[in-house]
Amino acid sequence: MKVIVLGSGIIGTASAWFLNKAGHDVTVIERQPGAAQETSFANGCQISVSHAEPWANPSAPMKVLKWLGKEDAPLLYRFRPEWLQWKWGMHFLRECTPGRTADNIRQIVAISEYSRQTLQSLRAETEIDYDHLTSGILHFYTDQKEFDLSLPAAKLMRDLGCPRDSISADEVVKIEPALANIRSKIVGGDFTATDESGDVYKFTSGLAKKAADAGVDFQYNTTITRLLTEGTGASAKITGVEIIDPEGRHRVLRADAFVMAMGSFSVPLLKPLGINLMIYPGKGYSATYTVTQPDAAPTVSLTDDGYKLVVSRLGDRLRVAGTCELNGYTRELNTTRCEAITRRTQELFPDACDYDNPVYWTGLRPLTPSNVPYIGKTRFNNLFLNTGHGTLGWTMGCGSGRAIADIVSGRLPEVDFAFTGLPRHTAGDIAAAHPVQA
Ligand SMILES: Cc1cc2nc3c(=O)[nH]c(=O)nc-3n(C[C@H](O)[C@H](O)[C@H](O)COP(=O)(O)OP(=O)(O)OC[C@H]3O[C@@H](n4cnc5c(N)ncnc54)[C@H](O)[C@@H]3O)c2cc1C
Repeated sequence: MKVIVLGSGIIGTASAWFLNKAGHDVTVIERQPGAAQETSFANGCQISVSHAEPWANPSAPMKVLKWLGKEDAPLLYRFRPEWLQWKWGMHFLRECTPGRTADNIRQIVAISEYSRQTLQSLRAETEIDYDHLTSGILHFYTDQKEFDLSLPAAKLMRDLGCPRDSISADEVVKIEPALANIRSKIVGGDFTATDESGDVYKFTSGLAKKAADAGVDFQYNTTITRLLTEGTGASAKITGVEIIDPEGRHRVLRADAFVMAMGSFSVPLLKPLGINLMIYPGKGYSATYTVTQPDAAPTVSLTDDGYKLVVSRLGDRLRVAGTCELNGYTRELNTTRCEAITRRTQELFPDACDYDNPVYWTGLRPLTPSNVPYIGKTRFNNLFLNTGHGTLGWTMGCGSGRAIADIVSGRLPEVDFAFTGLPRHTAGDIAAAHPVQA
C-alpha cells in the first residue's frame, strides 16, 4: 500500500519507520529542510514514563488561577478572543477531576511504557547515537506541601507498575551530587530508575536517515496546504494531498492511506474536513548551555518541581526546558521567561556551564486537555491520526509510530490503549493477535 505521512517530527518519523517495516511504500512530507526541526527539536529530552501525570489534575485549576498574568509563571493562560482556546480551557477543567486524572494517567503510562520498550529495541537495532542516558529521572521538591501532594501520585504510579520511590532530601543529593548546592532547600523527591533521557533531535534525524536508506521517500521543504476528499458516510476518503514543492509549484500527491502527524498544525488542516481536534499549542521554552565543569553538572535527568523545569545532560551540553504559555501559534521568545530559566539553572549549578551564551528556543506542544494523544482512525476510511502528544511526545513517540503502523496495516496494536475510532480490546485479544514467537 502507498502511505503518505504528513509531518516529520518524532511522531511522523517513527510512523514512517514502522510503516516501512510493515512493507508499505512510504512518503513523508515535511515543510522544513530536515526531520525534527519544529517541536521535536530542542525539548526537555526526558523519556519520562513514571512521571506521566497530566497537567490536568485536581490541583491544576487553583494553580492556573494563581499564575494568571505572571510573566514568568510555569503555566500561563493568555486569554484570547478565540473559540478553540476557551473550549479547550473548559475541556481541560473537565479533565481535572480525580477520576478523569486517574484514567488519563493509566492511558499515558500504557502507551509510554510500550514506547520506551520500542525505543530501547530501536536503539539496539539502529545504533543511533543521541547522547542518551539510562540513569533515571529524579524529581525534587522545594515545597513541603507539593511534596506531600506528590505521595499519592507516586503510589498510583507504583500501582501501575512504575518503580517510583519517594525519597528524602539526603537521598536526592546522594543520587545527584550536583544538587548539593541547594540541599538546604530540598524537602524530598522521587526517583524512577527505569526512566531515561536523550537528544530527541539527534534520534529523530538519525532515524529519518536510516528510514531513507531503507526506502522511505522524505520530501523536505514541501508545504502541505490541503487534503482532498471524496464520498460521504462509510465511503468518505482522502484522494490526495495538495502541496507546494521546493520549486514553489502546487501539486497533488496521491496515496492509498494518509497519516496525520503535524502536531499542533494538524488542527487547521483537518478543520475544513469537519474533524475538530481538541489540540491547542502550548508554547514551551528551552535553554541549552555548554558544560564547562562536567563534575558540577548533573548526569541524572531532573525535574525541578517548584519551577516546573526539566534538566537533561546531553554529552557536553545541558538542556533545561519547561514552562507553558497558551497564546496561539506564536513562537516568539519572551526575554523574561528566558532569563528566568537561566537564573534558576545558575542557582542550581553555579559552576557547571557557560551561562553567558545560552541558546534559547521555543516549541509548540500539541496539547490535548487530557494529554492523551489521538492515535487511530477517522471517519475518512484512509485517514489516520497520530497527533496531540502534548508534553510527552518524545516519551510516547516510538510506541505511537509502531501502533499506527499496526492500525494502518489492519492489525491490532500490541498495547492496551484507548485508540481513536477503535473499540477497546482486552489483553486476551491483544495476546491472541500477537502470539509470542517461540
Ligand atoms: C519546551 C518543551 C519541552 C518538552 N519536553 C519533553 C520531554 O522532556 N519529554 C517528552 O516526552 N516530550 C517533551 N516535549 C513534548 C514533545 O517535544 C512533543 O510532544 C513532540 O515533539 C511532538 O512531536 P510531533 O512529531 O507531534 O510534532 P512536531 O515535532 O512539531 O512535528 C510536526 C511536523 O509537521 C511539520 N508541519 C507542520 N505543518 C506542516 C505543513 N503545513 N506542511 C508540511 N509540514 C508541516 C512541522 O514542520 C513538524 O516537523 C516538550 C515540548 C516542549 C515544547
